This record gives sequence, C-alpha cells and structure tokens, in this order.
Amino acid sequence: MASFTLHGIPVSRGIAIGRAHILAPAALEVKHYLVANEQIEAEVLRLQNAIATVHEELQTIWSELPKDAPAELGAFIDVHVLILSDPTIALVPLEIIRTRFYNAEWALVTQIDELSAQFDEIEDPYLRERKADIQQVGERVLKVLTGSATSLPNSNDEGVHMIVVAHDISPADMLQFRDRAFAGFITDLGGQNSHTAIVARSLDIPAVVGMFNASAIIAQDDWLIIDGDAGVVIVDPAPLVLAQYRERQAVLQRERKKLGKLKKTPAITRDGTPVTLLANIEFPDDCAAAMDAGASGVGLFRSEFLFMNRAGFVNKLPSEDEQFESYKKAVLAMKGRPVTIRTLDIGADKPIDAVEHTALNPALGLRAIRYCLSEPQIFLVQLRAILRASAFGPIKLLVPMLAHAYEIDQTLNMIAQAKAQLQAANKKFDANIPVGAMIEIPAAALSLPMFVKRLDFLSVGTNDLIQYTLAIDRVDHEVAHLYNPLHPAVLQLLQMTIDAGTKAGIPVSVCGEMAGDTKLTRLLLGMGLREFSMHPAQLLSVKQEILNSDLVRIAPHSKRIMRSYEPEAINQAMLLLRAN
Ligand code: PEP
Ligand code: MG
Repeated sequence: MASFTLHGIPVSRGIAIGRAHILAPAALEVKHYLVANEQIEAEVLRLQNAIATVHEELQTIWSELPKDAPAELGAFIDVHVLILSDPTIALVPLEIIRTRFYNAEWALVTQIDELSAQFDEIEDPYLRERKADIQQVGERVLKVLTGSATSLPNSNDEGVHMIVVAHDISPADMLQFRDRAFAGFITDLGGQNSHTAIVARSLDIPAVVGMFNASAIIAQDDWLIIDGDAGVVIVDPAPLVLAQYRERQAVLQRERKKLGKLKKTPAITRDGTPVTLLANIEFPDDCAAAMDAGASGVGLFRSEFLFMNRAGFVNKLPSEDEQFESYKKAVLAMKGRPVTIRTLDIGADKPIDAVEHTALNPALGLRAIRYCLSEPQIFLVQLRAILRASAFGPIKLLVPMLAHAYEIDQTLNMIAQAKAQLQAANKKFDANIPVGAMIEIPAAALSLPMFVKRLDFLSVGTNDLIQYTLAIDRVDHEVAHLYNPLHPAVLQLLQMTIDAGTKAGIPVSVCGEMAGDTKLTRLLLGMGLREFSMHPAQLLSVKQEILNSDLVRIAPHSKRIMRSYEPEAINQAMLLLRAN
C-alpha cells in the first residue's frame, strides 16, 4: 500500500512509531478468533464455568451486604442474577460457539450486542435502561473469562509499539490505557481540550484527535508515525521518512533527559521572582509522577476520575471511606506539600455510570457544583471524605463551575454541615481548610468581588473559560479551530482574575491546559501569574522556560498583547515575547 498522510488536531506532543491497533466502537472489546472443531465443547465449558463463577460472586456479594444497606442494592443484585440465569445469556452464547465456532468472549459479546440493540428499540425508558444491567453482567463474565476487563494487547515483546486508533475514546475508557504500554493515540473525534485529550497528555504519549475518518481508513497492523507536534499521522511511511522520524525521536529523547536535571532547581525567573509549579492529577498514584517532577504540590486533583468505570461495582459511587482512603493516600504521598482537591466535576464530556445524563446541552447543564448542590447527600459524602483526609496533611478544597453568589454560599454551608457532622462523630479534620473557586465561567470572571470576599483562593480553569467565552464545545472537532487561548476576550478575563486576586491578597493559579503550554509561559508571567498547575509531564519544560525568562524584558511585550485587539498585533508581540 502507498504511504499517505492524515491531518488532525495535535493534543499531546512527541513522536510515536508503531503498528495500528484499531479499537472497535463496542464498549465490550474482546479477542475474536474461530475455535477448532475438536475444541468446541471445551470452549463451551469455559463459558459455562465463567457464568457459574459470576453466579457465585453475586451470591457472595449478596450474603455480605451490610444490614443497613439500602434495599435497592439487594434488588440490583437480584436483577443481575436473573439476567445471568436467563437463556438469552446462559444458553444462546453457547449455541453461538457451537454453530459459528466463535471463541467464548466473542460469542458472549455478539449476543450482548444483539440484546442491546433490541433494548434500544424499546420505548419504555425504564426497560430501556436495563440494557446497562445486561452489559454489566456481560462485563462481569468477560472479566472472569479474560482475567481482566479488557483484552487490549500491550506493546509486543519484539519492541514493536502499538498505536491505538479509535473513532472516539471516552475519558473513562482512556483510563484503562494508563497501565498499558501504548505508544500513541489517534481518534476521529475530539478537540484540543477535551478530557480525553487531557488524559492523553497526562499519560505523556503522542496523540492526534479530530481526524474525521482515520479509524475507517487505517487498517489493523498498518505501520504509523504520529507527529504529535504537527498533528500529522503518516500511514505506511517510506523507509526514508521512517528513518528521519526515528532520528527526530532520538533527539527528543535526549532533550527530555536533559530536562530531568532541572528537577531540584527552584523555579525562579532570571530577575529573581519565584514561581510555584504544581501538578494536575487524576488519581492518588499520580502523586509519584508529581513528586518526581519536583512539583510544589497538587494544584488540581480531578476527583471525578475516582467515580468512573464502576459499572461492575455494587456501589456505583465510591463510599465515604473509599474516597477518604484515596484522598489520604494523595496527601501522604505529597509529604507535606499541599493537595488541592477539586470536588466532583461530572457531566458534559465526563459522564459517570451512576448518574443518568440526559441534558440536551450537557456543557451548559447540571454539571459540576450544580449537580453536587442538587444532590446534597452525595456532595456531603465527598466533603466529609476530603475533610477527614485533611487531618493527615495540607488539603485545599476547590469548587468547579461556580457562577452565583448563592452557589458559593450554599457550598460553604454544605462544608460547614460536613464539618459539624464530623465533629459530632469525633472525627479529626482541618477546621481552617482553605476553600477556593475555579474561575471557568465568564460570569465568574466578571464578578470577582463576589468571589474574593467569600473565598481563600482562585484557580482559573482556562479550558472551560475558553469554551464558555468563545461559545465552542471543547470536544467538538468541527469548531476546534475556533478554540483560541489568545482571543482578547479570554486574555482580558484572565487578567481581571489575576488582578482581582492580587489586589485582594489571595492566591490565583491557572490549572487549565494554558498553564502547561510553554508557548504561553512568558505571557502568563507578564500578566502577573505566579502559580501554574499542569500535568507532571509538562512541569520541567515550563520550569526551563521560567528559568530563561526575565520579567523586565517580558513586560513591554505582554502589556502590548493586553492592549491589542488585532490577531496580527497579538501574534507579532507573541513572537517578540518568545524571542526575549
Ligand atoms: C478547566 O476547565 O480548565 C479545568 C482545569 O478543568 P477541567 O479541564 O477538568 O474541566
Ligand atoms: Mg473545567
């Protein structure tokens, strides 16, 4: 096949070279192979045994339910037992193995896909919802069959790397790649700051999204080069091109190694101004990377990731104790450096299994703090868990998507309630835990006095601030070209936030993706920003940029940018800023 090139949106830098692993859109992704005639009955038995094991698992869960567990939990397990015993699951897949020679996983998934399609036709919304139960039961059986939830291959032993090619990957699905050695990602959908892109960046491997129909054009095992800086994917590259890219890859690796020497160097500009560099994390285990990069703390712990991928769990929401253990783990891992935990920010492109997401326009719907205030019991559980962890080290509480004074007041009230509950139960916590707001809705940036009066710190979520200021969906590749951090409206709102915090004497950080983009470091310094929070993988490059920056030389150029409303003038000044 002749080599060809595809273009998309670059979301995670670097070069990856490997073979394509096409990810089917089905959530239940398994191995497909035909079974030899004499193996058929053994394969049938394998599936029967797996079903029997899941029966036992469900019985155990039932018998171990705490006495005070809500009645629905028992009912939920009953439904799963019924589904598992139904001939459509217990018998039909066995017939598929016998008649079509499919392996057990393939046979099961084929039948579940068939049943799911039938459920989609049902008008009754309650019955339609039962599709999820069937899929969850199917996943349980698959877990037993495969020994894990999925059958994604790792990069193989001969050193050939695998590159994931998919139509779309949800942030939840992306999480399963964290433990697997994939070299890169390509998706048809997605935008620069979709949460999927953010997770790809946090994994620090090259990724290109918004490639329209790449997953249809690229074939399984095709050789691919991802140029994560240019947003280009080369399919079946010529030997000369491959050699050039291998050379570039080696140069990048050497540069990376050099950066490693900056881990212990304090982040201070040439003129002696100290800057705080913090890490964004999704799980407590990410603290190791944060510490390794020399972060001064965690500036954004996206707690909602603890709430994802729980379809197979009896409790679809993590309990107070479970959350407490995670937050405590993070705070202990950071060894006295502050951990900023953001309260649950679900909705929009971060759905979770436990919550029905039906908003017509989810980015403008009941997401983040709006959801939490509408579900006080869920919110209180999280607040108590965070507060309890604050007894083990410095924690700051960060609240997403605030826009109204009464939302701030209600949130503070809920925190006071959680504290009172813990006090009554004799549980320890930091009574003075700092509470801050994410400034990520233009309305918030335009009413800062309301925030600084009530709160201890601000953190600008530029990803959403840009989305809402420019009215473009951050996950929609068709409008991705309009996503521009240098739009004067975005810069003005950001400047107002930095100024308001400075004037009120409260810390302001940026924890959106702008903070980790070295092209913007000098501009942000010039605007007065002194706290940056980003993926650990970006921290040393940003530090290098800070070490090479001089605030005195930056000032005239950043001032010019803030006075300009013409893209041409802004771009010119940006060039000068970066050259100084
Ligand atoms: C942001 O909006 O900039 C942010 C940091 O939060 P998230 O990307 O998780 O929405
Ligand atoms: Mg946000």
